Amino acid sequence: MKINGRTKITGIFGYPVEHTLSPAMHNAAFEDLALNYCYVPFSVHPDDLESAVKAIRALNICGVNVTVPHKERVIPLLDELNEEASFIGAVNTIVNSEGYLKGYNTDGRGFMQSLEEKGIYLDDKDVLVVGAGGASRAVCFYLIQKVKSLSVYGRSTEKLENLVADLRVMRNNLTAVRELSLLDRYHMIINATPLGLREEDALPLDPSLLKEGQIIYDLIYKETRLLKEAFKKGASVIDGTSMLLWQGAFAFELWTGKRPNVDVMRQALAGDR
Ligand code: NAP
Repeated sequence: MKINGRTKITGIFGYPVEHTLSPAMHNAAFEDLALNYCYVPFSVHPDDLESAVKAIRALNICGVNVTVPHKERVIPLLDELNEEASFIGAVNTIVNSEGYLKGYNTDGRGFMQSLEEKGIYLDDKDVLVVGAGGASRAVCFYLIQKVKSLSVYGRSTEKLENLVADLRVMRNNLTAVRELSLLDRYHMIINATPLGLREEDALPLDPSLLKEGQIIYDLIYKETRLLKEAFKKGASVIDGTSMLLWQGAFAFELWTGKRPNVDVMRQALAGDR
């Protein structure tokens, strides 16, 4: 990659940010299309978020991804949100158009694209989403429109009730679940909690309640203990890597107006682990 006077800057705001896989995939895709862009990590302390967002304008940064812990707190600092980001209440991508900052959330679209590329169709599926935070809202926003029935489990009653109320406005094929029992009734179960990020984490659900042929999707982008246990029960398992890939591909398109070569991004992701 050659940096010159015309190079456009993109990147990611996170804290910590050292673990991010996004620079590898975006820089590979810029290079592949010979676009004069680069993608860099910005370690932004929570106390500095406001100054960092102002710096997007001041430094004429083309756009950034936003990750933990800034996805929600960045919202009041932006000029506009698109529909998904507004529903989800979290932003993962900012686009800077001559100082006007618009927030997007590409996680849900990334998730749906990851199912489509695996040939998983949803019309006939009863689906359970475990968790009621930002990632859950992102996937539910799309799932509710496609699946036969959607159930959502959340440990915090208020968050769960808010999510269910917001989703009911869109469609009414929905159940709030208070207990993770009778799991064999679902065709697909999605873990949208952070449980599994660390080896010592408890499992988000009891794998002995799963059955052969179910699809178990963990949004965490590694082979978690849940996925290993579900695989032993004969389930088809999917980790969050392809969702990460596709949310990145959609962000790339928002910044550049061009479709990236996702195979190049996929290889870069695999190579950077
Ligand atoms: P979040 O907004 O903090 O929400 C997490 C949810 O998990 C909340 O409902 C929370 O419940 C629940 N939870 C947390 N700890 C729990 C526990 N010990 N037992 C039961 N429930 C628990 O986080 P998020 O942004 O939604 O992210 C969730 C996961 O999705 C993360 O692991 C993240 O890596 C992954 N993710 C992946 C991608 C991708 O591209 N693959 C994109 C986005 C997120 P409370 O509300 O009660 O705290």
